[in-house]
Amino acid sequence: MGTVREVTQKKLRTITSLDMPEWLHQAESLPNRKFISHSEKELIDLVRIHGEFSKADLATFTEYSRTKITGCVDSLLDKKIIIANNTTEYTGGRRSKTFSLNGDLGLVAGVDIGATSIDLGIADFSGKILVRYSEPASVKDGPIKILGKVCSLLETMLKENNMSPEKLFGIGIGVPGPVDFSAGTLVSPPIMPGWDRYPIIQTVQQWFPSANVVVDNDVNVMALGEIYQGVGKGVDNLIFVKIGTGIGAGIVCEGKIYRGSSGCAGDIGHISVNKSGPLCHCGNKGCLEAVAAGPAIAERSLIAAQAGKSPILLKLYEKNGKVLRSEDVGDAAREGDALAVEIIRESGQFIGDVLDGLVNFFNPGAIVIGGGVSNLGNLLLSSIRQTVINRSTPLATRDLHIVFSEIGPDAGVIGAVNLAMDYMFSISDVGTADSSGE
Ligand SMILES: [Zn+2]
Repeated sequence: MGTVREVTQKKLRTITSLDMPEWLHQAESLPNRKFISHSEKELIDLVRIHGEFSKADLATFTEYSRTKITGCVDSLLDKKIIIANNTTEYTGGRRSKTFSLNGDLGLVAGVDIGATSIDLGIADFSGKILVRYSEPASVKDGPIKILGKVCSLLETMLKENNMSPEKLFGIGIGVPGPVDFSAGTLVSPPIMPGWDRYPIIQTVQQWFPSANVVVDNDVNVMALGEIYQGVGKGVDNLIFVKIGTGIGAGIVCEGKIYRGSSGCAGDIGHISVNKSGPLCHCGNKGCLEAVAAGPAIAERSLIAAQAGKSPILLKLYEKNGKVLRSEDVGDAAREGDALAVEIIRESGQFIGDVLDGLVNFFNPGAIVIGGGVSNLGNLLLSSIRQTVINRSTPLATRDLHIVFSEIGPDAGVIGAVNLAMDYMFSISDVGTADSSGE
């Protein structure tokens, strides 16, 4: 959202760290963490989000004194977390040096475990993804097989790219189920047999002893990807909505992921939109997910095709070997099929109905839509937008942006890298006092 020079015009929020799980705080013995002060963390986050910054930029964003900024910058240079660039930028009268993150400090891996795929990326310490790999895999195969595959794939990626495993200091992992963030485990995940309370962190750490491992729900991870490297950059309050096989939301409140009291905040897929609607896998009727997610869209189009109400859908159904997927509905709509258009519009209205409630309740600055079903395109987006705007209060929608994710299929990997990076730069409660006074 704009260049560094544009964004410096406005004062940004004070970015604070994620709430760190208790076991991480206790695990001071874990290797390779960079202990920093609160103000240093704030500067690091600004540089992570916006790239190169001069001291003047940092002062504008934080409203710290120049002396304090200089103290923090010197301390971060000492710790080799940031580097001074050779390039300078012109800031009102004189040229000043810019600083950016020191990519050479180490490597961070981002792992996005989906229901039917594993996506991996290895980034440097500036968050830049250096290597990327994806492979189909069924999460139903259980944690031993899937985590074994993740670790051996990471090992291969490191080896093939001449990267040392000892330099891998952080691994962030997103998983498609409810996560107890403080324990780093899944809790009764509906589509993941064998994963309940499985020790993911300990398993992965056995393969990569130099790495710190952090686990979170996939939607929270994607929301994190949006605020650090996606369309959500610099937005304080944001809702990320993933529409795929299910529907879930990641909530960013004042720059931090909001997890709720037991870690399952944002589970909007099971909000009821039609009490006499179809049965959901959770046991209730008419959940948002059961009427508007990918399988519901495919199911409705199948009924329409079989009833002979849509020649285009029927043609796709025959062509695919008597199945219809949500992306076929998108294709049919693009070809002008009235029924497909109607199915997508209805799905958007159901999602918009729920988001309208969230907008009135939470007043976000942006809603970012991602996940597989978002490839249904502008028809879905405009239907969601229209429903929210028609129903929410004018003040709540005055500055509200409802947009598609621009990092799309990479949101999970980028978010997982950032999840690990948040932990790599850990705020120390003792021993790392601010370098100079307020
Ligand atoms: Zn449900």
